[in-house]
Amino acid sequence: MRAEHPSVCPLDCPDTCSLTVTVEDERIVAIRGSRANPYTAGVLCAKVPEAYPGFVHGEGRLTTPLRRVGAKGEGRFERISWPQALDIVHERFAAVIAAHGPQAILPLNYAGPHGLLAGGSMDLRFFHRLGASLLDRRPLCGGIRTEAWVGTFGPVPGIRPEQAEHSKLIVAWGSNVTWSNLHFVPVINRARRAGAKLVIVDPRRTKIAEQADLHVALHPGTDVVLAWATWPASRSTWRWRAATRRRTPRGSAAWTRARYDSSPSGTGPCHRR
Ligand code: SF4
Repeated sequence: MRAEHPSVCPLDCPDTCSLTVTVEDERIVAIRGSRANPYTAGVLCAKVPEAYPGFVHGEGRLTTPLRRVGAKGEGRFERISWPQALDIVHERFAAVIAAHGPQAILPLNYAGPHGLLAGGSMDLRFFHRLGASLLDRRPLCGGIRTEAWVGTFGPVPGIRPEQAEHSKLIVAWGSNVTWSNLHFVPVINRARRAGAKLVIVDPRRTKIAEQADLHVALHPGTDVVLAWATWPASRSTWRWRAATRRRTPRGSAAWTRARYDSSPSGTGPCHRR
């Protein structure tokens, strides 16, 4: 029997493409994009329709839990059932909680699927209900990026990618947009049709670099110099300063601290207004 099911891409990718998955005799036989998510609009990257059926049904796919039966590193495991695995976890959790309390359990997990249901919905509820220790998850993945965002704009949420359509200048820095951020390309194109300039910072002459107004092809690992060189120029514009004061509750004091913390020597601001 053949049927189509609505779904969402389960990979660790923020685009969360909506999918239409065709299943026949309990096997995935086709995946195509659906328009349920207006941002991804039916377009998928190549790897999911090509590789995901094999990933799910391939010979190397684990279909049952494995229990280690040898010493660590020996590589010896035996297959066990899901009820057996859950019993083992339950027994161990119960013993730890009885001896040390629930905060002796620390969930060490972060991200994975970005969909609302699959991305951190049930695991967070479970560990919260258990009373486990809270994990500061940000340093496991996007902590540096988050600090940069908060230091620049204050504690406000990010903007929708579609808003970049109204930009006058778009800089893609170390991002091969055409391949790894493909849904952003139409946004860039709309902005450029309205007069925006596109700058690509990338050692390679990528496809998007060929199309850009300016391609800055640095040697790998040297872009920090460009960052330090462009920072004072970008922060000197009145628009930038006004926006920062408006959006950063702590105002210029936050900036003074940010400049101090991020100076190469760690001894104080390296740039002055
Ligand atoms: S771009 Fe590819 S990996 Fe990302 S959500 Fe869409 S199909 Fe999945």
